[in-house]
Order: sequence, then structure tokens, then C-alpha cells
Amino acid sequence: MRRMIIAGNWKMNKDIKETFDFILPLKNNLIGQNLSVEVVVCPPFTSLYVVSELLKETSIKLGAQNMFYEVEGAYTGEVSPKMLRSVRCEYVILGHSERRRYFYETDEIVNKKVKKALEFGLKPIICIGETLEERERGKTFEVIERQVKGTLSGLSADEVKSVVIAYEPVWAIGTGRNATPEQAQEAHKFIREVVSGLFDSDLADKLTIQYGGSVTAENAYSLLSQPDVDGALVGGASLKIDSFLKIVKAGEMAYLEKKD
Ligand code: PEP
Repeated sequence: MRRMIIAGNWKMNKDIKETFDFILPLKNNLIGQNLSVEVVVCPPFTSLYVVSELLKETSIKLGAQNMFYEVEGAYTGEVSPKMLRSVRCEYVILGHSERRRYFYETDEIVNKKVKKALEFGLKPIICIGETLEERERGKTFEVIERQVKGTLSGLSADEVKSVVIAYEPVWAIGTGRNATPEQAQEAHKFIREVVSGLFDSDLADKLTIQYGGSVTAENAYSLLSQPDVDGALVGGASLKIDSFLKIVKAGEMAYLEKKD
């Protein structure tokens, strides 16, 4: 059975006080719940250390939203995988469409980051997905295939075991317009096929593929219960404790049903 991962991407939101205000109730709600789903929070860099301390001795995991592909040196403003490990990050989101759009990250750059993250024992959550224009031009599968191949280029099968892919159609991110469960399932199945072609079907079968793009408490269950949807990368709805907890619950329910 594949891991189901519900990750909250806070993006550029929450200062230290707001971080405490979210993490403390999250911890209180999830403590002792013995969940099958993995819960990950990805705060901004400034909150990583505090969240890491608050989450000690819980099963909630910590992730960063980005990193650079060098370990240290004259790269003003950048944060390295070594630094992320030092605050006990386990995951790192790489290649988010906002990084691609505003900071011109290409598959080649994302691939360099993925390799460096793995070298330092971080699990990359690699974001891929087509724009609206690409979908309307019938290019969805072509784009997905190119991004999967580009970002996983040069990785060994063993390394890919630590990777998570997040299918995030760009037109669904922050727009309130989520992919339908059928559209998500179709794309996830295709991603698995591409990974199977690159490596083997056993590895592809074990790969966690999250869906991201306007996931809410209301639509989470219908998306997460699709056979090839193994979790969610949640932006907006991860900022409010109530909606995030409901999405975690939906994930748990979908996971247990798929397991039976
Ligand atoms: C995201 O930031 O990865 C995301 C999917 O955002 P939202 O849930 O707000 O669409």
C-alpha cells in the first residue's frame, strides 16, 4: 500500500505568532490519533526552526518550500539542503509552479535541486503540471511526460523511492477551480506509466503521487479516493486549522477504504 501524504504548503504566509497559533492546535488535535496518513507542514523558512521544535516527539513531519542546489557559499538569499536538515526537515517542495513562474525555475534546475536534496536525505516533493493554455491545446500529457523525465533525469531507482510527485495543474492552483477527480486520476495514472517506463512497474506502483490545486475540505475526499491519488499538496486550505484537519480526515478515510 502506498503512503498517503497530506502536506500543507503555507507559501509566503504566517509570521512567528501566526505559526504558533496554527501549530499548537494542530498538534493538540492530532496527538494520539495514530493516523495512517502522513501529515506534513511546509512553513516559510523563518518558521522552520520553531515548527521543528514544536513538532518534536510528534508524527507530524516538517517540509520546506524550496532550497538551492549548492551546499554553502556566496549565494545571497539562498538556503541549502544542509541547513534544512539542521532544522530537521524531512521533505522539501521543489519546482512549485510559483517558483517556475516568478523565479524562472526550469526542469533542469529542479532536477539539480532534486539530486542535492536526495544527497542530504531530504524527500523531494516534485511539482509538475500543465498550464490552462497547454491543456486547451491538448498538450497535457506531453507536458507531464517532459516534466517527469526532466526532473527525474539521472536518478537511480533507489533514489526515486524517496521521491514524491505532486501533480498540480497550474490552472487549478489558487483559483478555486480544482481538477475533477476524473481529470486528476487520468493524469496520475499517466504519471505512473511514465515512471514505469523510466524505471519499472514495481517502483511506479509504490510512488506516492499527490494532487494539488484548490483542494478544500469539501472536495478532498472525492479526489483522494481516486485509485492513483495518494495525497494532497494543499495551499490556501492548509492555512486554516479547521479546513486542514478536515482534509487530513478525508485522506485518512480514503486511505482506509482503499486498503480494504
Ligand atoms: C499549492 O500551493 O501547491 C496549491 C495547490 O495551492 P492551492 O491549494 O491554494 O490551490
